Amino acid sequence: MAPVVRISHGRSHGSTASELHRIATATAAETTVQTVGPAIGAGARQVVFATSGETTGLYFEPATELVTSIVHSLDSADAIPTPDVAFTHERSMQELPATDEEPLSTSHRWVSGPAGWLSPTDIDTYQEARGVVANSGDPSWIRDRIEATPLRGRGRGDVAADIPLWNHWETAIETSGEPIVVVNANETTPYGHADRALLESTPLSVLDGALLTARALNASEIIVYCTERESLAIERTEGAIEQFEAAVDSPPIRVATGPSSYLAGEVTMAIEAIEGADRLEARLRPPQPSEWGLNGRPTVVHTPRTLAQLVELLRTDDTPPGTSGDPGTRLLTVAGAVETPITIELPTGSALSRVTDAVSLTGRLKGACVGDIFGGLVRSLEIPVSANGFRSARCGTNGVIELFTHDQCPLAIVGNRVTFAAENNCGRCVTCREGSKQLQKLLRQFYGGDPDTQLLSQLTRVLSETSLCAFGRDAARPIATGFDLFEPEFHQHASGHCPSGTCDLY
Ligand code: SF4
Repeated sequence: MAPVVRISHGRSHGSTASELHRIATATAAETTVQTVGPAIGAGARQVVFATSGETTGLYFEPATELVTSIVHSLDSADAIPTPDVAFTHERSMQELPATDEEPLSTSHRWVSGPAGWLSPTDIDTYQEARGVVANSGDPSWIRDRIEATPLRGRGRGDVAADIPLWNHWETAIETSGEPIVVVNANETTPYGHADRALLESTPLSVLDGALLTARALNASEIIVYCTERESLAIERTEGAIEQFEAAVDSPPIRVATGPSSYLAGEVTMAIEAIEGADRLEARLRPPQPSEWGLNGRPTVVHTPRTLAQLVELLRTDDTPPGTSGDPGTRLLTVAGAVETPITIELPTGSALSRVTDAVSLTGRLKGACVGDIFGGLVRSLEIPVSANGFRSARCGTNGVIELFTHDQCPLAIVGNRVTFAAENNCGRCVTCREGSKQLQKLLRQFYGGDPDTQLLSQLTRVLSETSLCAFGRDAARPIATGFDLFEPEFHQHASGHCPSGTCDLY
């Protein structure tokens, strides 16, 4: 078999990956040059794999001269050049190799196996390496497996976020009308990259999961809903759809785009955006979308993260990783006080503290906001990675862990999130619209030394209990947890100054 050079290319690699690909292609005589998606677990680092026979060498951030020399070596001697190689792996593989080298060693390989290894849109390679799981059984086989398994949805854009998928599948199956499947990849948060990474690296897995869902529900259409700015994810998804539809019997699949805004990823606002609404507002639930969704049809909305889990769960009869009550893995993006943000995969039940093995901190760790922009503040990461584990620790479950150091101010961290809530809510309900503004004012009172902490507690409770959608309910979380954990530091602003000098805007 001809030697192969694989060059990872995701949005974060920018023009570097294109340039490496151009140089490798121009140099290669016998060597096959492939573009693959981002290697989940490697962070934003550019990765190049060189494979000769059963040996693969991995290179981080190679310069163009090194790529030229790798291709020359493969062409002339069919050998992996050893200088600058991060590690070599000595067996043939159909997935990204496991390794002892950080950061790749921290990340488990279950849903992320094809990422960075298989060509994103090549259905033949996908069939050969993994097979289309949706072809493995009839609809009743899929339904029976999922009814018997407490697989939970991943991400805030999933209609079954943190609850068993079957809860919504059963409703859609029992409701009259033509069901439809929406893949909600609109993950517009400051650090949330997991859904984008899956669509850039292994869109065929996501389509396989969407088809499994469609077959189980007898759905007549699949829509992949993306953020309009994610051009690479859209391009690869459209390429994968073309090959998938040509090779597999599936209902029509199309891509729809929506605004690049946090709100547009909420389940019912995603549906409104696909329907073409000019102004997005959350819909009252119930009825759930699985009962009355897109154009009144029963609609099941899953994120790419959920669909990738579904595919792996049904791929074999083996016991899945993770816990029996929350099987599978979670993709976690670690950001904040780190040199390079990274997305890694951990089995449910793992200690969240493992994420620190995969990153280089930029200071002494003080705590984290766990669960994305509206996550919960914690001092310790000894939290089980699972829906219940996160909830018990008063954290969010949206898969982003933003670390912060002793040089950073908890009041600023909380304040930035309250400002985000005040500036980005849809305005439909008074609690969220006015409550978030009121919280901004209350936080500023800490600078005068006379904050109304009782009102602060009441307001966060009202926001979390009476907001119409998850945006308002979750927006209360950073301030409630931050105030409980760091109240003395909030009060240290009484003289009008921030002790760490980081929140002068407040
Ligand atoms: S909670 Fe906020 S975002 Fe949700 S409907 Fe109410 S105003 Fe809109």
